[in-house]
Amino acid sequence: MKRTVIYFFDEQDASRRSNARELQSLIDDPSIHVEALEPYRCVYCDSHQDTIGGPEAMQLDHFRPWNKGFGREKTRHFAHLVDEPTNLVHACGVCNRFKAARWPTEDIDLPHDHEKGWLDPFAEIRSDFLFVNANGSLVEGKPPGNYLIKTLRLNRPLLMRQRELLNIVATLEQEQIPRLRNILQSATGSEHAQTAQVALVLFDTIRSQCCPD
Ligand SMILES: [Zn+2]
Repeated sequence: MKRTVIYFFDEQDASRRSNARELQSLIDDPSIHVEALEPYRCVYCDSHQDTIGGPEAMQLDHFRPWNKGFGREKTRHFAHLVDEPTNLVHACGVCNRFKAARWPTEDIDLPHDHEKGWLDPFAEIRSDFLFVNANGSLVEGKPPGNYLIKTLRLNRPLLMRQRELLNIVATLEQEQIPRLRNILQSATGSEHAQTAQVALVLFDTIRSQCCPD
């Protein structure tokens, strides 16, 4: 029988994540079904876990890399953060691998220097730094947007397809879905209403696949 672990990644519940290694070993145990509560998303690429393989595709990233040595002495400035709950963020395995142990500023208080580095997920808003084109590609709004795009490969084909689909769903929701609902209500029982009903069911299916709550 599978055991169930519920784990939390938002700042309010950070105190529950008392030991990162213990928690990661639970997540890695295939006999345990992991249920993640909010926010479900990678703090770097914003992918919802259900669109990239479920909770098992996610990892705990040490935002400030505890094992990275800086300077000639290779001093580990962040070693004390290895089990610090507020230093743990929810990242997809791909972003976590590309981020690796990079901390370009080498300053514990500076996630980025407005050229290189990471956005503090608890203090900064991604949309201030990155914009989405209609084709799903990300472009820099302001630095360090380009560093993020380049280092984390945020224009990976899968991510671009997902963002493009989100754009299409949002456009349909705004422009076409109200019209279909009108037809369904005003022409109940007609052939048009039946067609509208089918289109709405299809739309709901697509939306639930690409935009899980
Ligand atoms: Zn990611």
